[in-house]
Amino acid sequence: MTDQRIPLAGVIGAPVAHSKSPRLHGYWLRRYNIAGFYIPMEVAQSDLEQVIRTLPMAGFVGVNITIPHKEAVMTIADQITDRATLIGACNTLIFRHDGKIHADNTDGYGFLENLRIGAPTWDPAAGPALVLGAGGAARAVVAALIDAGVPQILLSNRTRARAERLRDDFGQRIQVVDWVQAGNAIEQAQLVVNTTSLGMVGKSELRVPLDGLRRGMVVTDLVYTPLKTRLLQEAEAAGCTVVDGLGMLLHQAVPGFERWFGLRPEVDADTREAVLR
Ligand code: NAP
Repeated sequence: MTDQRIPLAGVIGAPVAHSKSPRLHGYWLRRYNIAGFYIPMEVAQSDLEQVIRTLPMAGFVGVNITIPHKEAVMTIADQITDRATLIGACNTLIFRHDGKIHADNTDGYGFLENLRIGAPTWDPAAGPALVLGAGGAARAVVAALIDAGVPQILLSNRTRARAERLRDDFGQRIQVVDWVQAGNAIEQAQLVVNTTSLGMVGKSELRVPLDGLRRGMVVTDLVYTPLKTRLLQEAEAAGCTVVDGLGMLLHQAVPGFERWFGLRPEVDADTREAVLR
């Protein structure tokens, strides 16, 4: 083996054809003139460990992990960051020179960077956040909001028990709100985050009443197909600052690219354009 090997990375999921990550990393590799490749890999759960253990031998420096393997991969990694352990899922693996597999979750980082850039006046300490949904993405969002210093998180999910589990894991800064009361909770919030898959192309609309939206609030949606969900359209019409979900996808990819290819890529208008094309 030589150090002159072309570095390889990729994304492992099932299915994986829809993933925008190959386009994103491919764009950065070309933009920064890096002789590397980023490859989509559809891998069944039963083959996951064998594939992951083989990749470093073939020149892979790491991979992203997407649905449905984000939890299962934790049993394969040798080292897991505290935040990924708390979230209970990993989306970025680094294959270290000593043979160890390092696992992290960068979704929360991507979420916060996107918010900070899209809503620069948002002050985490200014008031409660309302988080809709309590799935995997919500766990990363809640961890990031707590880290950022949000004093209270109102958490509402169709399946209340799932929200309660999240409160048990993340502590009393979280207050669970019944799904039917989510609309009322908007009035108390400075920040509203949709982490459900509602509003996505091919899924039902988010039907939470949105009358509580008002000027000065920040509203963001993790759904990015379409870019302007109904939630964001109504929030914009109410004078809120709106931040779409594409930026989270772009920013969550930065730490992985930097570790694998040795250069911190920029997220800018050209990057968005390249991914949307
Ligand atoms: P997940 O673990 O499957 O969670 C799905 C969430 O949506 C749960 O809270 C679920 O509620 C809720 N939900 C689904 N159908 C519903 C319905 N008909 N009525 C009410 N609630 C419903 O998925 P995830 O990984 O958290 O992802 C959630 C969304 O975030 C997806 O659209 C994903 O593409 C997006 N995402 C975006 C980024 C980004 O970078 N922008 C990153 C990660 C995820 P129950 O618990 O009641 O089922």
